[in-house]
Amino acid sequence: MERFTGSFTQQEPIPEAGIEAAMAILRHGRLHRYNTAPDEIAQTALLEEEFAAFTGARYCLAVASGGYAMATALRALQVGPGAPVLTNAFTLAPVPGAIASIGARPVFIETTPDLTIDFAHLEAMAQATGARVLMLSHMRGHLCDMDRLMALCDRLGMKVIEDCAHTMGAAWNGVPSGRHGVIGCYSTQTYKHMNSGEGGLLLTDDADLAARAVLLSGSYMLYARHRAAPPAQVFEGLRLEVPNISGRMDNLRAAILRPQIALLPDRAARWLALYRVLEDGLDQTNGLRLIPRPQAEQFVPSSFQFTLPGWEPARVAALIARCAARGVELKWFGAPDPVAFTSRYDHWHYADPQPLPQTDAVLAGLIDMRLPLTFTPADAAQIARIIRSEVQSVGQGEIAPVAALPLGD
Ligand SMILES: *Cc1c(COP(=O)(O)O)cnc(C)c1O
Repeated sequence: MERFTGSFTQQEPIPEAGIEAAMAILRHGRLHRYNTAPDEIAQTALLEEEFAAFTGARYCLAVASGGYAMATALRALQVGPGAPVLTNAFTLAPVPGAIASIGARPVFIETTPDLTIDFAHLEAMAQATGARVLMLSHMRGHLCDMDRLMALCDRLGMKVIEDCAHTMGAAWNGVPSGRHGVIGCYSTQTYKHMNSGEGGLLLTDDADLAARAVLLSGSYMLYARHRAAPPAQVFEGLRLEVPNISGRMDNLRAAILRPQIALLPDRAARWLALYRVLEDGLDQTNGLRLIPRPQAEQFVPSSFQFTLPGWEPARVAALIARCAARGVELKWFGAPDPVAFTSRYDHWHYADPQPLPQTDAVLAGLIDMRLPLTFTPADAAQIARIIRSEVQSVGQGEIAPVAALPLGD
């Protein structure tokens, strides 16, 4: 029986140019973004300018994390305490966490079997709650029909913040992810598309929102040092009104990230190649459903999902344990208790409880797998063979009792 021996958590190294730039910063010691020598432009300001150019946005702000970018987006939109904010029921903990961090109320929207937001439920909940803002999470890189989504939200008078933690470099009908809504938020945490350990980026074309975000992030009175920010006069009426909630990115992380922007298209192509090998290897496996990907969606799959519709929990648990024994780390969104990064809307007890039967049914059989770029296409093919054979045997045979689920990360 073959066994996979690669690591599901090993990312690629930082490019040499990033290492050299980081060493230069360490040698001169000017890590804070506003600590610059005469005539020096901070690495953080350059990163913002370059990421704005890469996405076509007018303004960009680099911050401490993706979660911070989302909270800043909500604050810039002046969402107040107690206000309802709609968001995907299928998302990661930092998304409802960002909503809760400003005292607002996460309201979860149902998930379709294709892992995107349910438009009918979105409309019903927008009307029922009167929410002004949708925090749209492109969870695991699955884009909904963005043209329909934007038309619906325009009709409902709702602003859209995009959580692009899994869609950096992706697009819908050629429009980059993060450029449909009023603000796009990205994460540069280690497991995302660019790696600085922790970090976030916020994009917008709206001058008022951009100025508010810069002031919120803790710019003191140094906002004129930003290059991808609106002109000074936009700050005039805001600079004494908007509180400083420090969450800046530093020059070290920015230096590590800058050379990675140019690598994004090549990384996207390699991710897609791995994804297609997995898809081909798992196609027509009895009991396993692949997630269809629309033509209009250009995705950057740093992870892979499939569902096991109708499987009883013990059988899913047995499959996960058997794949783990063969070196294949799968995560399960239907597990009763949250494990490592994998948790579910009903685990977030600070949010009001909500019945979401459609999402429950999808998540009960949803399996998730990391796809680091250190994998080769041959690795992906082997992983698919292992999953396929285990789905075939566990899907039919007796279920042996499973002692404990492996702890993933
Ligand atoms: C990683 C992630 C974020 C942001 O995470 P940070 O750790 O705060 O950078 C937001 N949304 C999703 C779906 C994520 O996976």
